[in-house]
Amino acid sequence: MKTDIEIAQASQMLPIADIASKLDILPEELEPYGRYKAKISEKIYSRLADRPDGKLILVTAINPTPAGEGKTTTTVGLGQAMAKIGKKAVIALREPSLGPVFGIKGGAAGGGYSQVVPMEDINLHFTGDMHAITAANNLLCAIIDNHLQQGNTLGIDPRRILIKRCLDMNDRALRNVIVGLGGKVNGVPREDGFMITVASEVMAILCLASDLTDLKKRLGEILVAYTYAGKPVFARDLQVDGAMAALLKDALKPNLVQTLENTPALMHGGPFANIAHGCNSVRATRLALKLGDYCITEAGFGSDLGAEKFLDIKCRYAGLSPSAIVIVATMRALKYNGGVAKTDVSAPNVEALRKGLVNLQAHVENMQKYGVPVVVAINRFYTDTEEEIAVLSDFCEKSGCRFALSEVFALGGDGGVDLAKKVVEACQQPSHYKPLYDTALPIKEKIEAIAKNIYGAGEVLYAPAAEKMIGEIERLEKADLPICIAKTQYSLSDDPTKLGRPAGFTITVRDIRLNAGAGFIVALTGDIMTMPGLPKMPAAYKIDVDSQGNISGLF
Ligand code: ADP
Ligand code: MG
Repeated sequence: MKTDIEIAQASQMLPIADIASKLDILPEELEPYGRYKAKISEKIYSRLADRPDGKLILVTAINPTPAGEGKTTTTVGLGQAMAKIGKKAVIALREPSLGPVFGIKGGAAGGGYSQVVPMEDINLHFTGDMHAITAANNLLCAIIDNHLQQGNTLGIDPRRILIKRCLDMNDRALRNVIVGLGGKVNGVPREDGFMITVASEVMAILCLASDLTDLKKRLGEILVAYTYAGKPVFARDLQVDGAMAALLKDALKPNLVQTLENTPALMHGGPFANIAHGCNSVRATRLALKLGDYCITEAGFGSDLGAEKFLDIKCRYAGLSPSAIVIVATMRALKYNGGVAKTDVSAPNVEALRKGLVNLQAHVENMQKYGVPVVVAINRFYTDTEEEIAVLSDFCEKSGCRFALSEVFALGGDGGVDLAKKVVEACQQPSHYKPLYDTALPIKEKIEAIAKNIYGAGEVLYAPAAEKMIGEIERLEKADLPICIAKTQYSLSDDPTKLGRPAGFTITVRDIRLNAGAGFIVALTGDIMTMPGLPKMPAAYKIDVDSQGNISGLF
């Protein structure tokens, strides 16, 4: 069997200009980055403003195993399958982060015969958006430390600086650092730290901004620090919003690539869903809706994280209304949720599968709470047995849920025809999308709405730091923002060992942060770190490049 990268390298890509012209993107609206990648210029938005939107389809999943359950693969495969049944689909995905690429999970360009290409470029530097976001964030940090150095006229308390430096890498050694050591000319010593770029507020802002003007305004609204007198300091007080926006001018433009079957895909923005809001940019989604009859998009991790944030943050802000939600389920994740060890999930085990079905049930019920029709996609692995597939199919049928066996990994678009038909059917049903909670509610009530209705928690506890910050956000009159919970992806709870469908547990909110520029309040639970670490055997060990520039080992 060929590896993902071998399949990708053998693919017949079309020049990106051909993909663009199939979508009626005008030559002057296309900004090629080499032959197979392009950015799409600002001009297109005004030209297409009056065009009706296509249908929006969200791909989400049950609680995953560390390897991922195939949402990106399913999103890409579904896009390819839509073409097989004569529908015009445009895929909207996030850009990969180097953290997982070199860590455990690997890249984020799909898998098997459902991938976006050129996969090496996409997984590595792509069009430089990650670098631009990193630079914009770190410019803000440099300006803060320079302000301290140059006399600190704002009176910033160095112990109360909220913004951290960032890097698109899993690097635990940078979680806590001391900067400014070395005497007077080398800055003011203080404790600092790094986040991974995809957890930064700048990334969230890029993904939620509607245009350059809105981007600049949001950058200016980043809460940076407090003064000795306890007053908030925003990025605009440091006069850095303009320069940050200048760094992001091109990063704000969506990237166009293609699938193995030449289906167009917009890949833009890439926040993680466990420590950030987990969806690609609003601008890419909006553009995909204008360019295709169906826009197929993915939100990260399980529906408790990515889909909840997609529905309660992104769709609410962008005025989007999804027509269908696809929940990806795999035998391995169901068996894992049924109590099987990570290393044994490929072995047949109908009993564990049956036990794990409660997890799927929870995700289906949760998504139905948003009023959007649901389709379950059974992402087939070659290790799945007929008996296991029958058990899962039977379960879906009994729950009255549309479902399809998806073989897009092995067969590309041809393996997703049934899924595509079911999704089109679901899109013809009325969708009554509404967010889960009203943003006008007090902060704790909003957190509880998510914890109780989506996670199944009985109670939410708040550490003193969290209590204090809630009071602070209320004083700043920013309490009416939606909530972005940072939580483990492995469980519906905040404890990665509580599998299946835990009930009545307690969620502990450790800390709260205000992302005033992005427009949400972050509630941190469990041990979730905004700077991940590398495992003992990182994927980087296997990645290589030959003398001709051919890359191997990416997956
Ligand atoms: P997610 O987006 O949910 O994190 P991905 O689509 O990135 O998941 O898939 C995770 C990994 O699993 C990838 O390496 C992909 O190639 C692999 N994969 C996905 N579906 C299948 C399948 N049906 N059979 C084998 N491997 C698969
Ligand atoms: Mg993915």
